Parts: sequence; structure tokens; C-alpha cells
Amino acid sequence: MAATVIDGKAFAARVRGQVATHVAALKADHGITPGLAVVLVGEDPASEVYVRSKGKMTLEVGMKSVEHKLDAETAEADLLALIHQLNNDPEIHGILVQLPLPDHLDEDLVINSIDPAKDVDGFHISNVGLLGTGQDSMVPCTPLGCLMMLRDHHGSLSGLNAVVIGRSNIVGKPMAQLLLGDSCTVTIAHSRTKDLPDVVRRADIVVAAVGRAQMVPGDWIKPGATVIDVGINRIEKPEGGTRLVGDVDYDSCAAVAGAITPVPGGVGPMTIACLLANTVTACCRANGLPAPEGLTV
Ligand code: NDP
Repeated sequence: MAATVIDGKAFAARVRGQVATHVAALKADHGITPGLAVVLVGEDPASEVYVRSKGKMTLEVGMKSVEHKLDAETAEADLLALIHQLNNDPEIHGILVQLPLPDHLDEDLVINSIDPAKDVDGFHISNVGLLGTGQDSMVPCTPLGCLMMLRDHHGSLSGLNAVVIGRSNIVGKPMAQLLLGDSCTVTIAHSRTKDLPDVVRRADIVVAAVGRAQMVPGDWIKPGATVIDVGINRIEKPEGGTRLVGDVDYDSCAAVAGAITPVPGGVGPMTIACLLANTVTACCRANGLPAPEGLTV
């Protein structure tokens, strides 16, 4: 039987709708408008596209959007001064520094200078520690989006075998923490994993976050498993031009899986929706209000 296609685009639109409802209530009931500041250093074209689309969607859900575009040569001290200013701005509830940063800037230092309560990317070392110990934290957007789709599809994830391929700090590791938090039995695979196909074949849930086009073929997938494809890779089309593909070979995996996310239209749209969700969560917490249900873990 063909796999259920998990429509991340439609899911993300629902999440943004929920965010907009909460933003409207915060304005009406408390006179508060959540604000998101995005900082872009340099002129990486892909980053510029992301930042533009984040700004547009922030405004669409009724939040305040502030964009700081800094020169590629910006001194570290100047960037840290801007972050300090945003940390102290009561109208800003979320701060995102678009990565990657130019080589002369220390990424860890910059991320860890953001107020953890405003760290809507969830990359600050305090948030990493809070997530790892099961406490309220800001949760990285991409894994949060994957978890939302998995919970929606499965209901309970308790007891399921999950294999996360990739151990990056921004996707693989936090994804594994979230699945563990939902009582999955979690394996993290990476480039040194032995017998990767056999490891993946044991999984009820496969999350592929590798950055290698179509690396996971259908014969690695247990029949009926759920496949979440985080990868975004651009490949040449035989007829010329390029197209986006994920880290799994979609057609062969969809023939075996119970459910699968497409690329594009799966995890990608959920990442921005979760950034907006995190900004509302941060705003509520900053004002002593409960975080909206369903928008965080
Ligand atoms: P990283 O490059 O930081 O990490 C890749 C991971 O894959 C590493 O842990 C690496 O292992 C592992 N890996 C590499 N080759 C293999 C292999 N042959 N077998 C098993 N594991 C392997 O990537 P990210 O986590 O940042 O991103 C992963 C993918 O997700 C990329 O395509 C990226 O574009 C995409 N992405 C998509 C987002 C979205 O919104 N949809 C958001 C963020 C990322 P090791 O540690 O041993 O080197």
C-alpha cells in the first residue's frame, strides 16, 4: 500500500494559524505584540531568502518583525553589542542570528550571548541543557516541527524504535532528545555507524538529517515505518536545470513506508512555522503567561 504523504506545507499553515490566534489574543487581552528580531551578517543568497521569508511570515501572523542586516566585515564586538541591545529591548521576545556566520565570527560565542529566554532557535547552551534534562526550554525549530508531525500522525510515540541519521547540534541531537522525551527507543546513526542499512531497518521511525541527496533507499525501510526527511539537497535534472531532493530516495521509500514527508513541502515549511511558535512561547513566558498548548513540547 502506498505511504501516507505527511503534508508539511498544510501542517505548517495550520501551525501559523494557531500562532496568529494566540498573537491576536495577546494583543486583545494583554496589549502585547510578540516581536522577532532576525540578524543577518553578510550577503549569503540562501540566507537572504530565508530571512526575507521569515520576516514576511512574522508580519502575516501579526507579530512585530525587525531585521538587522550587517556588513560581512562586521566586527564581533559590534555584533555582540547589537545582541546585547536586543536582549534588553522589551518589545523583542525572540532573537535569531542567521547561520552560518562569516569565518571571523565565533558562532558559539555569538549564540551564547543571546538571552536564553529569547533564543528562539534553541541553540544556546542553556537551552541545550534544559532540553537534555527534560525541562522547559526553547526547542530547535526543525526537530520541533518533525516531532509535531510525528505526534500528529502516530498519537503516542511511546515504545517505538526511532533511528535518527545525523548527529548535528541543530537537527540530529535535539531530534533524538525529543524522541527520547516521548519515550521512543532512540538510536543516533552517523558517518561512522556500522551496518547502517540494518540499523535503519529496525526503525519504526526514521529521521534522515544527513545532507546527502537520496542516500536512504527503500530497501533500508521497514514496511510501514514513518520516514521524516529533513534533507534539502539541490541536484541536476537530466533534462537540465536543478531540483530539490531530500536525504531519502522518495519513490522507493514511499513504496515501503507507512508515511513519509516529501521534499519540498515536508519538514522545510514546518521549520519557519515553529520559529513563529517559539516566538509566541517566548513572549508568553516573558510575560508570566502559560505557553500556548500544542506549540511547544
Ligand atoms: P550536518 O552536516 O551538520 O550533519 C550531517 C550529519 O550526517 C553528521 O552527523 C554526519 O555524521 C552524518 N552523515 C554524513 N554522511 C553520512 C553517511 N554516509 N552515513 C551516515 N551519516 C552520515 O547537517 P545538518 O544536520 O545541519 O543538516 C542535515 C540536512 O538537513 C542538510 O541537508 C540540511 O540542508 C538539512 N536541513 C534542513 C532544514 C529544514 O528546515 N528542512 C533545517 C536544517 C537542516 P558525522 O557527524 O559522523 O560527520
